Amino acid sequence: MKYKNRTKLQAASTVLTFPFALLIILAPIFVFFINYVNETALTVFAIIGISFWVLISISSLFLQRAHCSHTCAITGMFTFFAFIFHNPEIMRTKYPRIVSHIVLSLWIIAPLYVYIRFIGNKAGFIPYCSAFDNVFVIIFYSLFLLSSLFSKTTGKSNTAHYICPFSPCMISMIKLSEFLKLPSRKFVTDSTKCVNCGVCAKNCPMGFKVNELVKTDQFNQKECINCGRCIEGCKAKAIECRFC
Ligand code: SF4
Ligand code: SF4
Repeated sequence: MKYKNRTKLQAASTVLTFPFALLIILAPIFVFFINYVNETALTVFAIIGISFWVLISISSLFLQRAHCSHTCAITGMFTFFAFIFHNPEIMRTKYPRIVSHIVLSLWIIAPLYVYIRFIGNKAGFIPYCSAFDNVFVIIFYSLFLLSSLFSKTTGKSNTAHYICPFSPCMISMIKLSEFLKLPSRKFVTDSTKCVNCGVCAKNCPMGFKVNELVKTDQFNQKECINCGRCIEGCKAKAIECRFC
C-alpha cells in the first residue's frame, strides 16, 4: 500500500476507534467511581473490554502489531493533537511518554485503591469487587514488578510499551502465526539496497536503530509497531510492507 493511502487509513482508523480505545485505556479512572456504577454497566464494560482484547489478539495473527500504531488510545490521542496543533512531530516529543506514564500510574494505583477501600467490607458490596482479594493484588503487582524488571534488564527505554497489557498477547499471537505459517502483514528488508543514510532510525518513534537492523537482516517484527515511518523515509526502498 502506498504511503499516502496508508497514512489516510491510519488517520481514519484512529479517529474511528479513538473514543472506544480511550474508554478502555482510562478504565482505571472509572474504578474510583465504582460505588456509583451498577452491576449491569460493569458487566457491559467488562464484555466490551474483553471483546477488544480478543479482537486485538486475533488481528495480531494477520496484521502483526498494527494495533499499536492504528488503534492504540495513546497513539490516537497524539494523532489527534498533531492534527489540532498542526504538529506532525508531536509523537517524537516528550509528551507521549509523559501521558503513557500517567496512564500507567493509574493502572497501578486503581487496583490498590479498590483493595484498600473495600477489602474486609465485602458485605453488601457489588460481586465484581470480590475479585479484588489478596491473591488478585499479589498476582497483579508481581506481574507489574516482573514487567518492570524485564524492561530495565533489557535496557529498553519505552517502559510503557513493554508493560502494555496487550503486548504479551500480540507477541504470542505473532509467534503462533509464524508457527502456523499464516499469511500476514510483514516488513521485508533488503540489506543490499540500504545506503545506511539513517533516516529510518531517525523516523522510528520506538527508537530502534532500524538502519543497523536492516544492514544485519535482524529487523524484529514482534517489537515493531508497524507504523511505516521507516518505509516512508527510505528512498532506497530497502524496506517494504507486504502481505505474504
Ligand atoms: S532509510 Fe533505507 S537506505 Fe537509509 S538507512 Fe534506513 S533502510 Fe537504509
Ligand atoms: S521499525 Fe519502522 S514500522 Fe517499526 S516502529 Fe520503527 S519506524 Fe515504525
